[in-house]
This record gives sequence, structure tokens and C-alpha cells, in this order.
Amino acid sequence: MSSSIEKLQKFLKLEADRDYDNRAVFGGLEIIAPNWQKEAQSERLDENKVETITTLLKQYPQLKQQERIAAVNDVLQILNSLIKTQSKASSRYNSQKFQNHNRAEKAIISPRRDIPKIKKIHPINKPSKSDDESSNIVAGLESPLTVLPSIGQKGAQIYQKLGLNTLGDLLYYFPRRYDDYSNIKPIYQLNFNDEVTVIATVQNIQNRQIRGGKATITEAIVSDDTGYLRLTWFNQPFITKLLNHGNQIVLSGKINMYLGRLVMNNPEWEPIEKEHLHTNRIVPVYRLTSNISQRSIRSAIFQTVSSWGSRISDYLPDEIIQSQNLVSLSSAITNIHFPETRTQLNAAHQRLAFDEIFLLQLGLLQQKYDWQSKVIPSYSVDNDWLAHQIIKLPFTLTNSQIQVLDEIRQDLASGHPMNRLVQGDVGSGKTIIAALTMLIMTQHNVQAVLMAPTSILADQLYKNITQLLINEIGNDGNLSPEDICLLIGDTPESTKQEIRTGLSQGKIKIVIGTHALIEDPVQFKNLQLVIIDEQHRFGVSQRAALREKGENPHLMVMTATPIPRSLALTIYGDLDLSIINELPAGRKPIITHLLHPLERERAYQLILNQIESGKQAFIIYPFIDQNEDESSISAIEEHKKLQNEVFPKLQIGLLHGRMKPEEKDLIMKNFRDGAYHILVSTSVIEVGVDIPNATVILIEGANRFGLAQLHQFRGRVGRGQVQSYCLLIPENEDSIENKRLSVMCETNDGFILADRDLNHRGPGDFLGTRQSGFMEIKLANFSDISIIEKARKQANIIFQKDPELKNEEHQSLKKMLKRFWINGRGDNS
Ligand code: ADP
Ligand code: MG
Repeated sequence: MSSSIEKLQKFLKLEADRDYDNRAVFGGLEIIAPNWQKEAQSERLDENKVETITTLLKQYPQLKQQERIAAVNDVLQILNSLIKTQSKASSRYNSQKFQNHNRAEKAIISPRRDIPKIKKIHPINKPSKSDDESSNIVAGLESPLTVLPSIGQKGAQIYQKLGLNTLGDLLYYFPRRYDDYSNIKPIYQLNFNDEVTVIATVQNIQNRQIRGGKATITEAIVSDDTGYLRLTWFNQPFITKLLNHGNQIVLSGKINMYLGRLVMNNPEWEPIEKEHLHTNRIVPVYRLTSNISQRSIRSAIFQTVSSWGSRISDYLPDEIIQSQNLVSLSSAITNIHFPETRTQLNAAHQRLAFDEIFLLQLGLLQQKYDWQSKVIPSYSVDNDWLAHQIIKLPFTLTNSQIQVLDEIRQDLASGHPMNRLVQGDVGSGKTIIAALTMLIMTQHNVQAVLMAPTSILADQLYKNITQLLINEIGNDGNLSPEDICLLIGDTPESTKQEIRTGLSQGKIKIVIGTHALIEDPVQFKNLQLVIIDEQHRFGVSQRAALREKGENPHLMVMTATPIPRSLALTIYGDLDLSIINELPAGRKPIITHLLHPLERERAYQLILNQIESGKQAFIIYPFIDQNEDESSISAIEEHKKLQNEVFPKLQIGLLHGRMKPEEKDLIMKNFRDGAYHILVSTSVIEVGVDIPNATVILIEGANRFGLAQLHQFRGRVGRGQVQSYCLLIPENEDSIENKRLSVMCETNDGFILADRDLNHRGPGDFLGTRQSGFMEIKLANFSDISIIEKARKQANIIFQKDPELKNEEHQSLKKMLKRFWINGRGDNS
């Protein structure tokens, strides 16, 4: 037996005799860690295990009694396994000649031995439960990365670039993808494109200079009993120092073809006697930054998972874990990184995705609860007064609009701050709802603010609302034009100054603007209503910043993005939901055609006809220029072609995402004012901008967009009285794609399209993490409605029982919730 093993065993037994007071060694076990590690390394003991032991020793003084017992037992077990592998390795070396590959496989497949090891070290079925202990474990997880032997100060700085500061961060740094190398094959069975593991012996290895000595290729020939395989590595000349003739190695990677022979390029490899972390298993692949290699981050995470993964206590109540068929948190964390099987990986994924939605929902419910426990004055108006105002509108409100207005009125009168999301398809008439809500508030002599994402939208809202409230309704003379103002980035400083004074003195009742409203030091006398239009364009923090300009103001956010109800309830769980689900009567549905790419001329003809009758057109492309995607058509190139070849006599504008915001705004304004006949644009085209004179929109590369997004584009036209058209041209003839797109021709209902989208491709396209605003949603897919509903339901149950999480058994949940929300508060502006 090696002397380092023996020595440590002795110390640990002594430590146990002394009741774990960390005095078995003068200065504590942590003192001997570095030297022990060196000694063990010089004895060529398994590196991972040595590292795990060293880490445990280093952490020992911070552990509580219970954890010390566990740690000492763990280390003793690892030492035992080291003794066993030592003897096995020497015996295997002697019996290495395999007679046939069946036996070879049996003999060598001791794959993924490291995972059972983790289980053995920290039995997953016995997670620690006591609160005392779990708080200590949380503290352990908060240790800096430098407690890992492989990470020093410099290394820690690199990890910081990935947002990784603590061991806990590492555990929650989930793989970007996995390479499944659990499939082991003898060489004669290899096929082109296989992703496999091969166990072979190095026959020959050498470096070769290429490109005039600027690069190196390492070439090797390896063999097993069934054949020979060629390997090449690019610019890793050091490999020849590590690998020699006769070495047995485990290789994982993809099988390629070169001059008719099978080769592996840049395979991952490990010596056969090592425990296989990078080969011979389902290998996690992480997102990297410069100066950090896949192998080093994988090893760091492995060390952390080995020493902490199985000791994480579960913060979810047992009954939820049982009733929802979830695996334990420790097993989920272990298997999301180092699964033995796909099944384990799936179970881990399910559990962690459940947790994300659960924590999201629980936090949102708490926010709503906090918000609604605030007491504020009641702002009510009587029925007759409101009916009297509504009757003066140039149109009758739709039933949906009346219903939503009613819900808002109840909120305003409730004595608690409103927190409502109004969801309504493009053109469903949300502006009038916002205007009437503001009018009700101004009746009580308090102020209201409306924020829109761009100045052109703010300007449009300002004009529409002034028109509605002052000219059309007349509001019994309570509001005059001076009571409403517009504040955007471009507003001259002198005007801004006046607005600031007006708002702080309470002379201005309503202000409409852009994020300039938050950046400006404007103060309100008595702000009681905050409305945000196209809310998905703002971050959580921007919403909060505007809200903080008043004291517990009512909040109303509006969006035209149709999202299925259960999804909306989850992502906006802190908001009450109102849906406008009908369009004003008499709207002519937009006629949508799906065209073959060869029918483009027909599309151009329709556009030309519309323009000749005084109308305008949009043409949308999926990319800005060819650099983005060579295989597709793009705005800049096509704009040139349209201008020079197709419509040389027309004025054609160009809009894309690489332009500055002011530039974009100006182009939109010019188009609205009729300076262009056609506007060529990428997907940046503004949601919500009203250009009634535009009657046709052509969408090229339509297959590149989700249905909900196409529907948003389509909403750019059909805003006037005349018939409008939407033309879709996919890149090529693909019957499945065309079937998907043809739904656009069948319905103008955004909710139906959003549902279809969800079924087809998941909501990532129109609703990603960015839109939810929570960085901690890493695994949950918003298209997995069943997980969402499950998690939402369970969060609601817990919330009903214990809204502030005061119960003893909810303390670790409370801590986790806090961590999730602090980390998750990303800004998605
Ligand atoms: P969005 O919900 O997309 O913000 P808007 O509020 O801009 O829609 O309304 C679109 C158009 O429909 C506006 O010109 C508005 O005046 C008009 N409108 C709103 N409500 C009605 C209604 N009940 N009947 C007829 N037209 C309406
Ligand atoms: Mg609108």
C-alpha cells in the first residue's frame, strides 16, 4: 500500500477517536492537505480522487460535527477505493491481451466508474435534512472557487468572466450540450459519422510541421484486436510527450473520413487506467470563455459535484417531490452534469426545470402579495360619468374592451395598487383603454405616466391620446391640452425643463414618453398610475424604475404578443391578466397569400398596383446582409436590387438593426410621412407603429420566422379602412414548412397562431428567457406546458399555505428562493 494512503488513514482514525475536534494533526487536517496531495501525486494515485480528498481536507475546519463525520467517512472510503484500483490496475495490465472484442468489451467496460463513486461517497438517498446542516451546506456552496485545488486566484478571475464565483455557481452552471460517448465499439465496427468511444493501443505517434512551421499536426496510429485507426490532433504537439508506443488509451469523438480511410480528428482521450471524465460516457460540454478549456472546467465541476453534489439538501417539501415524481435535488445536480444514462439525464432535467418554474412562480406570487398588501386611496368614478364619456367616442367599444375596462375600474377602486397585464392583438384597441384609465385617474387630481419603447411610438400615442381625451371626449373640460405632454430624448432641453416644473408642481396631469422618462430627473407631485406599452421591450428594472417615481402607483402593462394563457400566468404571475380577444367590428381581415419563390413577380405586381393607387408597402427580409447567412436573401443586398432593377422609379427606404435608434426612428417617421413608397426592413420593424396608408407587406424568407412573429409583421398593415394584403415567400419549396406557413392564410387570430407555434417549434422564437426577464430560467422550456402547469400548481399550493414562508419546514426553500431571485434579476432591455 502507498505510504500516503496509509498515513492519512491513520490520521483519520485518530480524528474519529478524538470525536472530530480537528486536533488529530497539529494545526488541523487542512494543514496537511497540500503536502499530502503532492505525495499522493508522486505516487501516481488517481488524480480526481486525490483532488477530492484534498478539497475535503481543506474544508474540514469549516464543517460542523455532523459534516465532519461524513467527510472523514468519505475520505476513508475513497482511500479504500484507491487501494482497490491500485491492485486492479496492476492485475489488468497483465491480462491485457484480449482474445476477442466481446471479451474485450466486457473486460474494459467499467465505464463511468466515477459516478457510482459519487453515489458511494455521499449516499443520495440520505440527503441531510436538518436546517442547521443545510445552512452550513449553503455556506459551503458559497465558498470561492479557489477552494478547489485546481483553481488559483488567476483561474478564479477567468471563471468570473462566466459569472462563476462560488462552488454553488459551478453546480448550477449547466452543460450547453452533451456528447454521447457511452457507445463503445471495436475498430472494425466503426462507421463514418459515428460518435463513439474506442479503446486502443498506440502503435505510432509523431508530430509534423505544416504551413511552413506555423502549425503542428500530431498523427497517431492506434489499434485494437480488430483493426487500425488513424488519429490526428491539430496544434497540440505536447501530446507526443504524453502518449507513447504501447500506451492503452480510451478515445472519444466523431469518426471522419480521409482519403477513403476512417480517422478521428482531435479526439478526446484518457489513459485507460484513469477514471474517465472526458471520454467513454455522456460527456457534458460547457460554454467557455477564452483561457479556459473544456477539460479544466469539466474537471472543476466534477470535483465540486463529487464533494458537494450529493450533500445538497433538498429544499422542496417531500410531498411535492413524491407527488410530482421528481428526483432529489442532489441526484438532479449530479446527473445534469455527469449522467450515466439518458434516462438519468432526462429525470435531472425534469427536476431542475420544475424548480425553475416553481421558484419563478412562487417569487412572483410573493411580489404580488407584497404589492397588494399596500393600502392606497380608492379611485372610483360613477357609471353615468363613464358612460357619458364613452358615448362621445367616434366608435363603440367592443365587448372585450368594455370587459377589460371594467376589470381595471375595479382595480382602481379597490384601495390596493393595480398590477395588471392587458394582452390584446395588434389593432384590438388598447390605446383607448389606456386613455380612459388615465382619464379616470386625472378626475381625482393625480398624475399618470405612459411609457413606450421608441419615440415614434410615444409620439403616436401622444397624438392619439390627446385627440381622444381633448377633442373627441372633451372630458367635460377637466383636461386641457397643456395638461398632457410628451417627453422623449429629442425634446429640447428648455421644454424638458418646463415639463419637469409642470410635473413636480402637479400642473401637468399626463406625461407620455420613452425611457427618457426614467433617465430624466423628473419628479412627480403625485404619480398614481404607470402604464407601459409594448411591455416586453422593457426590462424588469426599467418597469420598477418608472414605478418608483410614485408611491405605490397603479401599474398597467400592455402587450400585443399573444401568449397562451397558462404561459402568461406563469411568466407574468405577479400580474393579473386581462385579454382583449376581439377586433373592432368592420375590420377587413388581411388577405394572406403564400407564394412560391418563382411567383415573386406576382408579389411585385401587387405592390406596384397598391403604390399606384397611393398606398405604401413593407418588404421584410430575415437577415441584414449576406454575412449573416449566405444561403438566404438579406435586406441590404435586396434593397439595392429593388431600387436599381425592380422599382427604379420608386423611393425605397431601408431599416435594419445595425442602425442607431435615432436613425431607425427617423426612417420610420419618413415612411409614415410618405417620403418612401416602400420600406425594406429586417425584423426590427416597430411593433405598434400605425401607418394606415401601408396596405401590403411582403415577407421574404418567411420560413425563417415563427408564426407569432409573422403575425406581428402582418399587423403593420390593415390599420386603415381599405383592404390590406400579406404575402409570404419561403426560401424554397418545402411541403412541411409550407403547411406550417399556410395556417397564416387561414386565420388572423394571434392566439391561435401562438398556440400553433408552441406546438411546432416552442416559444423560444417569440418568447425566450429574455422576455421573461429571469436569467435563472436555464433549463425550463416554455413550450413544456405540462411542467409549467405542474410547477405553477405546486407553487400556488405552498403559497396558499404559507405565503411568507414562515414555517419551519420552508426555511431552506426560502433561502433558495432568495438566491434564485437575486441571481435571476437580469435586465432584458
Ligand atoms: P393596439 O391594440 O394595437 O394598440 P390601437 O389602440 O392602436 O390598437 O387601435 C387600433 C385602431 O383601432 C385605432 O385607430 C383605434 O382608434 C381603433 N379602435 C380602437 N377601438 C375601436 C373600436 N371599438 N371600434 C373601432 N375602432 C377602434
Ligand atoms: Mg398599441
